[in-house]
Amino acid sequence: MNYSNHVGIIGSGISGLTLGCCLLKFGIDCVIFEKSNEISKHGAGISISRNALKILDRLDLINSFKEESFQPEKVSWNYKNVEFHTTDSDVFTANRKNLIKVLNDKYISLGGKTLFNHEVKSVTSNGKSLDFDNNDSFNIKHIAVCDGIKSSIRDRYFIKKNDIQYSGFNAWRGIGKSKNTKIQFHLGSKSHVINYPINNELDQSFIGIVKNNKENNESWVTEGSIENLLLELNDEAESIKSVLSKDQKIFKWGIFVRPPLKKIFLDNITLLGDAAHPMVPFLGQGGCMAIEDAYTFALVLKKVNLNFNLTQKIYNKIRTSRNIKIQKMSMQQARLNHIENHIIALTRNFIMKNTNIISKRTNIIWNYDAHYQIESELKKL
Ligand SMILES: Cc1cc2nc3c(=O)[nH]c(=O)nc-3n(C[C@H](O)[C@H](O)[C@H](O)COP(=O)(O)OP(=O)(O)OC[C@H]3O[C@@H](n4cnc5c(N)ncnc54)[C@H](O)[C@@H]3O)c2cc1C
Repeated sequence: MNYSNHVGIIGSGISGLTLGCCLLKFGIDCVIFEKSNEISKHGAGISISRNALKILDRLDLINSFKEESFQPEKVSWNYKNVEFHTTDSDVFTANRKNLIKVLNDKYISLGGKTLFNHEVKSVTSNGKSLDFDNNDSFNIKHIAVCDGIKSSIRDRYFIKKNDIQYSGFNAWRGIGKSKNTKIQFHLGSKSHVINYPINNELDQSFIGIVKNNKENNESWVTEGSIENLLLELNDEAESIKSVLSKDQKIFKWGIFVRPPLKKIFLDNITLLGDAAHPMVPFLGQGGCMAIEDAYTFALVLKKVNLNFNLTQKIYNKIRTSRNIKIQKMSMQQARLNHIENHIIALTRNFIMKNTNIISKRTNIIWNYDAHYQIESELKKL
């Protein structure tokens, strides 16, 4: 098969599939190369806020995503297991594998093709061809790197090896059952827990974040035990005890940080999603940024008549300022969620309850309209 006129997308995750959908919608040829033998079936909760929902809407995916997700009406804020504030919710919550399925169904319906069992091993230095672990090799028009948080291409060409550092936080996650219909935040001094329903059957996703020096693997599939989870999460575990069941699978992993990249392209290679801006998950924005990246790259490419060099420059300008801001805010959120001093924590709670600080912070993120941003950037040309 000849893909020399195609955008070669590495990875069929959130950014890769969104990019595939956008490119095909705009009449631009592309193909996805995925290392696994199928699209991801890992179950984990994800919340999608209106900055990304606007793009799903432009891709005519909002109804199918609605069917696969839940719309919590309220967010409940708790400190030491006592609710101190509630706010209205404006996000969809879903199982990540269902978001992937919705995107993949759309990609296929647009005529998209994915080559599974194709793990990229190397890229030629000017990014014109790809070599795979199964000895396949293809010439490609442009390489869109969507291979996730542990992107081997980013790590090889864009950062130094010792730039990867443990963040000081470990995460636990699982999916159980509960009658809870809200998004619940349980803030503690050394840990915090978030739980929410991910569908109308009220399957309940929970994520527990622990601040400690014990580095776990950076892997989404390492299993842990309920005993250790309860021990590490300490008092905050109280909030999810009723969600846990004996035969349930629990996963744990170490959260690592990489330096923000000011340049997310090189020669014929462009980074998108976690590959471009790995971020700690405390604002729930990694997937939303991946969707914004994909739409931005594809629309700019279309608007500048497939001028890839110009697209990379405009894409880089629009996305790095936005992504670096969200990366920083995500890390700040970790510190805000884990205030150890009781008096300072109570002051934080008071400010959250009595000022508009929460909506101010979320609006910076959620009010963003990628389409409008692209239009206004292109007007400057
Ligand atoms: C605990 C936690 C909670 C989160 N909650 C939220 C949330 O609520 N909201 C939100 O927006 N985001 C959330 N995120 C972040 C979100 O899941 C990621 O940002 C998002 O999945 C990134 O998409 P991606 O396309 O960059 O990578 P991925 O979706 O991870 O896809 C990468 C794909 O590339 C493939 N691949 C990897 N290497 C190769 C290779 N060499 N060759 C071929 N294929 C390859 C992989 O198999 C995979 O299919 C959360 C993350 C975590 C850890």
